[in-house]
Amino acid sequence: MNAQGEDHGRRLGAGIGNFIAGANEHKDLGAVRAWPADRLWCLEREAGPRVRPAPEGPREVSGTFSVLAADDAPPFSVHNADGRFPFLIVADHAGNAVPGALDGLGLGRADRERHIAWDIGIAGVCRSLSDLLGATLIQQNYSRLVIDCNRPPGTPQSIPEESDGTRVPGNQGLEPSARRAREAQIFDPYHARIAAEIDRRMNAGRPAVLIAMHSFTPVWDGAQRPWHAGVLHRGDSRLANALLGLLRQDGALTVGDNAPYDIGDATDWTIPVHGESRGILHVGIEIRQDLIQHEEGQAMWAARFGALLPLALSECGAAATG
Ligand SMILES: [Zn+2]
Repeated sequence: MNAQGEDHGRRLGAGIGNFIAGANEHKDLGAVRAWPADRLWCLEREAGPRVRPAPEGPREVSGTFSVLAADDAPPFSVHNADGRFPFLIVADHAGNAVPGALDGLGLGRADRERHIAWDIGIAGVCRSLSDLLGATLIQQNYSRLVIDCNRPPGTPQSIPEESDGTRVPGNQGLEPSARRAREAQIFDPYHARIAAEIDRRMNAGRPAVLIAMHSFTPVWDGAQRPWHAGVLHRGDSRLANALLGLLRQDGALTVGDNAPYDIGDATDWTIPVHGESRGILHVGIEIRQDLIQHEEGQAMWAARFGALLPLALSECGAAATG
């Protein structure tokens, strides 16, 4: 280990010690919110090899084709931009907007409000969770049917021609320039904003812990899904395992471990690029949509994760020094 690495290690160790002291002193959420940022030092691992480059900004769009007009929504929204809590909450499928130029993708309003278009209920959960913790939230505003911000660009599911048995007329046989426009104006700015937030924290010596929030339909391909929530992880499972243990203390909950989905390079973008490649603590969370379709359920699940995520993070600190 070089001198810089040793210095990093010392600071990491001291920071985690302070973090654990804080966790042991204060188990309640109010105290967690009040922890000063310098007691929540970075818990990141040394960054491993980058499996693929994070998008660095809007790509040049060939020709003059533009998918977003002045009266369309911005591609993403940021809530609690100055949040001091280590968590960076992201929601790839929070919105169901469709740019005016795409004319609803040829779908009726009912289809644009179904689970195929977005993660029903997750925007409300994320906003409440962000407020409870004082944590920054970055959420995508456009439908995953316009471009899926958790799929590698260029793959069939990036701009799906069909989803859960429903044909998407506006996605049939797209020209490369039309695909690039959606990537450049919706996908790229969203992921560039997430990357910039992580950069900003690393440059300032502040922690970044990535929380990727999703919801899932209770019935898929005719099969009922029994889980109330799922925890998704792959390479670095520290935060996920701690969270799983805490969730399972509630015997009334059925919790999926990498269910109903797991993380793969072909099916995911956000955790591989912003979590694994950056070497920061991260976890994916899935909540069943029928539990969070109304405000009451959204508030309840936000409160649950608002209480458990800080405890899971403190357990990671304990594991790192134990
Ligand atoms: Zn999702």
